[in-house]
Amino acid sequence: MLTENKTIGERIDARCTRCGARNMQISEEFIGSGNYEVKAGKVIAVTSADSLKATGRLFGRCRQCGHDWVFRKNPLTS
Ligand SMILES: [Zn+2]
Repeated sequence: MLTENKTIGERIDARCTRCGARNMQISEEFIGSGNYEVKAGKVIAVTSADSLKATGRLFGRCRQCGHDWVFRKNPLTS
């Protein structure tokens, strides 16, 4: 479900905003909803949350100092 702009071996031009390290986890946020359609008090349709949408928010977690931050610029598309 990842946007997959980057894959193994590719360069990431980002550093920890606190210590400058280049060892980090980048988390891409997704949201999804399961829906229950109700008519006259009875469920008539159910759709599961099988399609997730990227919110555009990406989080960084430094593997060196443990700092957590939110990316202002997407590090996966630059
Ligand atoms: Zn750090």
